[in-house]
Amino acid sequence: MSADPIIFSAELVALLRRALKLVALTGAGVSQESGLRTFRDAQAGLWAQYKPEDLASPQAFQRDPKLVWDWYAWRREAVKGVRPNPGHYALVEMEKRIPGFTLITQNVDGLHRMAGSQNVLELHGNIQRVRCADCYTFAETWDDNTESVPECRECGGLLRPDVVWFGESLPRPQLEAAVEAARSCEVFFSIGTSGVVQPAASLAFAAHNRGAVIVEINAEPTPLTSKADHVFHGKSGEILPRLVEAVWG
Ligand SMILES: [Zn+2]
Repeated sequence: MSADPIIFSAELVALLRRALKLVALTGAGVSQESGLRTFRDAQAGLWAQYKPEDLASPQAFQRDPKLVWDWYAWRREAVKGVRPNPGHYALVEMEKRIPGFTLITQNVDGLHRMAGSQNVLELHGNIQRVRCADCYTFAETWDDNTESVPECRECGGLLRPDVVWFGESLPRPQLEAAVEAARSCEVFFSIGTSGVVQPAASLAFAAHNRGAVIVEINAEPTPLTSKADHVFHGKSGEILPRLVEAVWG
């Protein structure tokens, strides 16, 4: 914990106390604070020779399904070693206190659900979920130690992670719900996201255009910073718990 006090304006505190609809959008920075490496950083060791598109695209899966399956099996293992951080838990606390709370995340690690967040829109999917590439049936169990990619019990198709790959569109129900939440919220938090990955980045601007108060928490400035009403540069795992304490403590 940094010793510097973080100043939250009386205006922001009052706004959050009475807020009925709030959106929090989270990105890679929130996962990194839990010690999880980013997509590119995760391409260490034997994975370093591959381009992201060679491991995370429908073409890659068609060309070499076992390679792609193994890459995700390896990433699932990495997630098992990490835990939600205080920022994840502060968002759970905010959800308990704000009636219309929507958490939108670009992260695929499932840490928000692990922390206890309920209303979560996973725009890019979740690597913990596995589904059939052909019929979309979800698999609860599978064997990671087989010579080939495990198959769907329903149709025999290959199983794949339930994530959005390069060249695939975002899940429509989640995206529509995210856009609707952004357009109708009073306060929009952009947390640990560079603000350049579309369409997630446009959500904050949609909220801003509809008059929502924009709060940004990120390590460094982003394209959103000049539009934000409240900007905090630092770790969400330090700033969010203090904000929750200041507002509801
Ligand atoms: Zn199937």
